[in-house]
Amino acid sequence: MKLQDKVALITGSGRGIGRAIALRFADEGASIVVNSVHKENSDAVKKEIESRGGRAISVPCDVSKKESVDGLFETVQREYGSIDVLVNNAGINIVKPAMEMTEANWDDVFSTNLKSIFLCSKAAAALMIPKGSGQIINISSIVGINPFPNRAPYATSKAGVIMLTRELAIEWARHNITVNAIAPGFILTDMLKGRIAEGAINGDAILKRVPLRRFGLVEDIAHAVLFLADEGSSYITGQCITVDGGYTAYGFVE
Ligand code: NDP
Repeated sequence: MKLQDKVALITGSGRGIGRAIALRFADEGASIVVNSVHKENSDAVKKEIESRGGRAISVPCDVSKKESVDGLFETVQREYGSIDVLVNNAGINIVKPAMEMTEANWDDVFSTNLKSIFLCSKAAAALMIPKGSGQIINISSIVGINPFPNRAPYATSKAGVIMLTRELAIEWARHNITVNAIAPGFILTDMLKGRIAEGAINGDAILKRVPLRRFGLVEDIAHAVLFLADEGSSYITGQCITVDGGYTAYGFVE
């Protein structure tokens, strides 16, 4: 099936990486489901897609809660009939030392970054299994591979995303559903730009540690997601592709 005949749901596509994935898939002709917490953000991306000649619906909801995921997939089924590609991109980070991290912080990060993927993937697979095909792509992080300090729930949840990817891939392979992950490195989103500008993050120090000597662009991640959703990638499943300019490959200290 060509991408222009596919329906793709991208969670957390009201901003940042998710928005770039939604725009790229729309430009390739896919019909898009834009999701975010805030209605104004998902509505704005839906409008942007339509202004480029694409097709999209906006379904704002919290994907960490079962009842809202049920509502999201009811809307998808009503509007588009089914779904072909699910990109589990919604995620949050809370940065503080483990001794200051509260139970509520832990639960918020885990439910947004990991439980949402379990809930959305099950709901998507219920529609994909009868068709005998589907692609699920989960957004992890290099922090799920190499931990950064002060990110205990984030790093652990993102490591969990990689294992959940492999688990679902081996369970659903018999239904011809592929499940893969992308682990982005330092991606130049508005948040990262802001933190560098205010001095909270040392951009030069990061770039010294990135062999390709540049930050990732949201389009770099969108391209990798598109690759995994392409027909030609149908023999790839249970994998995590790291898109980090060589950061995790690098072991030297200069
Ligand atoms: P942003 O913070 O820019 O955007 C996050 C998006 O997710 C927003 O649209 C937000 O909605 C939505 N969202 C958050 N929580 C929920 C929820 N419970 N239900 C539905 N939508 C939700 O994130 P990024 O673009 O930076 O990151 C996207 C993904 O990539 C995340 O999983 C992140 O962990 C991962 N990542 C990012 C990296 C980076 O450098 N930026 C590096 C490695 C991984 P709203 O717009 O309404 O607020």
